[in-house]
Amino acid sequence: MADSGIAGSKLQILVVEDESALVEILRYNLEKEGFGVVVAADGEAALEAIADHKPDLVVLDWMLPHVSGLEICRRLRRRPETRDLPIIMLTARSEEADRVRGLEVGADDYIAKPFSPSELIARIRAVLRRAKPSTTGDLLTYAGVVMDLVSHRVLRDGRPVHLGPTEYRLLRFLMERPGRVYSREQLLDAVWGRDIYVEARTVDVHIRRLRKALNGPEDVDIIRTVRSAGYALDELSQ
Ligand code: CA
Repeated sequence: MADSGIAGSKLQILVVEDESALVEILRYNLEKEGFGVVVAADGEAALEAIADHKPDLVVLDWMLPHVSGLEICRRLRRRPETRDLPIIMLTARSEEADRVRGLEVGADDYIAKPFSPSELIARIRAVLRRAKPSTTGDLLTYAGVVMDLVSHRVLRDGRPVHLGPTEYRLLRFLMERPGRVYSREQLLDAVWGRDIYVEARTVDVHIRRLRKALNGPEDVDIIRTVRSAGYALDELSQ
């Protein structure tokens, strides 16, 4: 049994899938691992279940009746109350282009069918870990980088890192959700704001400056470039 919630409270997983045989396999395996399971067979039911049960993570099938999982994911990301809800997409498509599309609409991870329940559970645990970044009061920490949100000081392995205001905001945004891939457009919205017109390429320029300031000669580059998708903070990226 793995109960990683607060004493007595199970983490709730919402499984959105219309294939009942697969749902039962997932329910059995997730419950065996100590998760609470809520099921929805289509997008409408999923949105209701999210409002009613406030799940900790959603396992979302791509192929659903009426509205696709991709569209559901896009809608969830647009709403402030579900913007940060961890989502793992399930799909029969294993092509790289589909993976990129799934990540672009904001899925945290993506798993191609067929998969083993233990593989899905490992991904669920990884996504849940990332969804709760280690914050201690006004400090953000990740892979040896410490950001003091009050003094605006940044340290990497104890060494001061000097950042311009844009690089600071960019790093802060990435450190709040490590591991998650953001497209250039999402970074523009989050860091520059929607009202300002900035070319997507500007993001690349600031990511380059951020890397230069952050990475000493001996350091691992913790910013991962995801080809044609965007950027993520990832200490295992190299
Ligand atoms: Ca399905």
